[in-house]
Amino acid sequence: MSMPSSLRSIINTELIRTEAYIDGTWCQAIDGAVFDVRDPATCNRLTQVPNMGEKDCLRAIDAADAAQKPWSALTAKERSVFLRRWHDLILSNQSDLAALIVAEQGKPLAEALGEVAYAASFVEWFAEEARRAYGDVIPQTRNGQRSLVIKQPIGVVAAITPWNFPIAMITRKVAPALAAGCTVVAKPAEDTPLSALALAALAEAAGIPAGVFNVVTAARGALIGKTMCESPVVRKLSFTGSTAVGKLLAEQCARTVKRVSLELGGNAPFLVFDDADLDAAVAGAMASKYRNAGQTCICANRILVQDSIKDAFAEKLADAVSHLRQGSGFEDGINQGPLINSAAYDKVVRLVDDALAKGATVRTQAPRAAETGVFFPPLLLDNATPDMDMYAQEIFGPVAALYTFKDEAEAIAMANATSAGLAAYVYARDIGRAWRVAEALEYGMVGINDIAISATEVPFGGVKESGVGREGAKYGLEEFMEIKYMCMGGIS
Ligand code: NAP
Repeated sequence: MSMPSSLRSIINTELIRTEAYIDGTWCQAIDGAVFDVRDPATCNRLTQVPNMGEKDCLRAIDAADAAQKPWSALTAKERSVFLRRWHDLILSNQSDLAALIVAEQGKPLAEALGEVAYAASFVEWFAEEARRAYGDVIPQTRNGQRSLVIKQPIGVVAAITPWNFPIAMITRKVAPALAAGCTVVAKPAEDTPLSALALAALAEAAGIPAGVFNVVTAARGALIGKTMCESPVVRKLSFTGSTAVGKLLAEQCARTVKRVSLELGGNAPFLVFDDADLDAAVAGAMASKYRNAGQTCICANRILVQDSIKDAFAEKLADAVSHLRQGSGFEDGINQGPLINSAAYDKVVRLVDDALAKGATVRTQAPRAAETGVFFPPLLLDNATPDMDMYAQEIFGPVAALYTFKDEAEAIAMANATSAGLAAYVYARDIGRAWRVAEALEYGMVGINDIAISATEVPFGGVKESGVGREGAKYGLEEFMEIKYMCMGGIS
């Protein structure tokens, strides 16, 4: 197969892998099945990778199981050194990894470069945190006894990840798992397996032992998920993706009482009060809504503006939206890539049609890209109302919708009127108001006068149906560790 043009800029061709990575070896599916990986900016095929099934997945789980005890027997410092090497290799291959992301996921190159840096930051952070998995000594409860708590790795971890951050969503799970002494079988999204395989190639180059990090590629996500969930060997599932699939996996994990971490869908409210710095609010709304063409779980999904300033805000936002430039992520000056696939496009069209039928109006729409890929032109809708489907569902596309509220109480009620609870944003200059509203929002993360809320040092995760557990920060390591209490008697 000749190299497609979107992969030609990659200098380290060792990163372009078309085999899965199990037990330190590159392999095909046992039954030889493969599936296509496509470039969403052109719809052209990039390559094919193994379409693995149950037996392949079980082989990877066995490999992770065999590797787990020796890996956890290393000192924290030794595991940290492996992670540190992996981090350095990720960063020294930043441009090539970013090109792979653009090729299979479509985001603009600048965003892809940022994703690689963000992804690497988790590996660095957990390389450091590995050495701080402290236990506790508990004050004496009985004469002659001493009580203490140690932390131990959970064991074999299954990681299932989405396509919207194909590198960062893997390192945010795999780095803390490895730091804790766990081993991992990862199943990347069908749309973006190449980024995951490149990470595995760099883990191999970093000397991370065979079986510690395995990547099973598949277009049979449900089958692989079920195999992972039903395996008694897998002790933890860490999943990032849609709420519907997260609920299904949680049910499947119940049968073996696995620990689960679920990073699920959001429905972020973006509140703009009448005392807000309007230019800052517009800049925040643009960055939050249109990053990755609206395909992030913390994207502003409902822009709620106080009625007295709605028109002024809408005018400034419309001007900014009309200047967005859509095209291939490799093109200079582009800030909007394609949607991931035709199903995503159809969903956006359905939500927009529903909103227009219920009275929303088009405020502005940026021009469509010239390319033939999966492009939906960035859109701003005005006069949106809570009866529209996009009020309750993630749009996951470059469409902003403006709603209005009268006062603080109505803003909070509208913001919380959803089963999701991932991220929320508040723009207000009255600090009392900003604090009150932020406390009242039923969300795991609240950005106040800022939307750049993600970082490796802070906890990422949601409440309500947006998930269970936290990634990143000091809390991220605990998700992969069990607490063991030891009581020592006969001391007096
Ligand atoms: P998705 O359809 O749930 O897919 C996520 C992963 O689950 C993919 O690897 C997918 O494989 C796999 N999968 C699909 N059906 C499965 C099943 N029945 N059993 C086991 N695995 C299954 O979600 P997506 O469309 O890729 O990602 C977008 C969603 O992720 C959005 O809701 C977004 O908000 C959420 N997200 C959340 C966070 C967060 O941190 N909270 C971060 C990013 C994204 P296939 O690709 O083969 O279908």
